[in-house]
Amino acid sequence: MDIRLTDSQRAYRETARQFTARELAPWAARIDREGVTPPSVLNVIRGCGFLGAALPQDKGGGGIDEVSYGILTEEVGRVCSSTRSLMTVHNMSAQAIARFGDHEQQERWLPDLCSGRKVVAFALSEPEVGSAADAIETKATSDGNAFRVSGTKKWITYGLIADLFVVFAKLEGAPIALVVDRDSEGLRIEPVTDIFGVRGSMLAQLHFDEVRVRKERQLGRVGMGIRFVANVALDHGRFSVAWGSTGIIQACLDACVAYSEQRRQAGRRLKDFQLIRRQLANMLVDHTASRALCYRSACLRQRRAPQATMETSLAKYHASMAAIRAATNAVHMHGANGCSGEYPVDRYLRDATVSGIVEGTHEIHQLALASYALRRPYLD
Ligand SMILES: Cc1cc2nc3c(=O)[nH]c(=O)nc-3n(C[C@H](O)[C@H](O)[C@H](O)COP(=O)(O)OP(=O)(O)OC[C@H]3O[C@@H](n4cnc5c(N)ncnc54)[C@H](O)[C@@H]3O)c2cc1C
Repeated sequence: MDIRLTDSQRAYRETARQFTARELAPWAARIDREGVTPPSVLNVIRGCGFLGAALPQDKGGGGIDEVSYGILTEEVGRVCSSTRSLMTVHNMSAQAIARFGDHEQQERWLPDLCSGRKVVAFALSEPEVGSAADAIETKATSDGNAFRVSGTKKWITYGLIADLFVVFAKLEGAPIALVVDRDSEGLRIEPVTDIFGVRGSMLAQLHFDEVRVRKERQLGRVGMGIRFVANVALDHGRFSVAWGSTGIIQACLDACVAYSEQRRQAGRRLKDFQLIRRQLANMLVDHTASRALCYRSACLRQRRAPQATMETSLAKYHASMAAIRAATNAVHMHGANGCSGEYPVDRYLRDATVSGIVEGTHEIHQLALASYALRRPYLD
């Protein structure tokens, strides 16, 4: 596999890097500390084209290729996992609309989602339902040309500011996906505060009390909600989290290289201690391997290869584990300073931990990957 970047991908990385350094880096620590993304940063993200970068060009999106989108996500993830998570949920939900929405639905929602005028969030998890998504308890009942939706969704990333939600419910036991407006009557949006990592992601709990949703807002057919709509969205989400995690590893490397060059103990710089050098080497290997898996997944997605979904799961599983490992070592290498909040490494560790939970925990990916291994993909 040739993973050399094209000139345009290289240029795109440079643009993304300059943009994140200028517009996001000065805010990242504050977003984490205060547990909120300020409106000014949200406006920048909405306006800069990142939200719609991978969405269809004919609807106003950027239509960029998978590698370029991965590079963009890595660069944002390197600087600020909260804003990366906004890109993740917006893109995965909008991709589900692009894939399962009929012509009218696409025309109604995609132009605003491509431009960032509107933000869409993904509402699958519930207080009692996480990994086993098939067991969702939110109910829809038929009421003429509408559904009545009741139930609770929890941990909804950027649910506090989203204009639309892709919501999953059961209609007589069959999963359906609906696009719901935030100002729908009967929908109450409550903040989930003080989350451990990705702290600026403005999580919400959504309470649906007989919310009337017109049937023309259903994505796909009855029964397709989880297996098709949610899974396609989650596949996009995993791709994004894999690249974002790779960005965290790079941030750890950046921080540790700088710290080990500057910090002295016993008259020597940390970088001159062999055991510190081992940690730097391991981080570099983790970063290189994660990035290679992400590139591989991007190339397979680009040519719509049948194994792309499993290779994306593989990349997400590896990159999120590696990010936790790198961030744990980064905190350790910074000693007491690493625990102080004066350096960014404790944020990286908290953000990496969340990456290992969202879009499927490590265990859920292990189960899927074990089934994949039994099909002997490595013989291809
Ligand atoms: C910061 C953050 C943002 C989030 N954003 C969103 C969002 O935007 N939209 C949304 O819908 N959800 C969101 N979530 C929820 C997330 O998707 C769930 O947390 C995740 O799916 C895991 O579910 P759970 O937390 O209920 O854990 P559980 O499913 O209860 O799992 C608990 C533990 O048991 C293990 N486990 C579960 N089942 C199995 C099994 N079959 N075999 C072995 N081990 C198992 C898990 O791996 C885990 O270690 C978010 C969560 C966080 C923390």
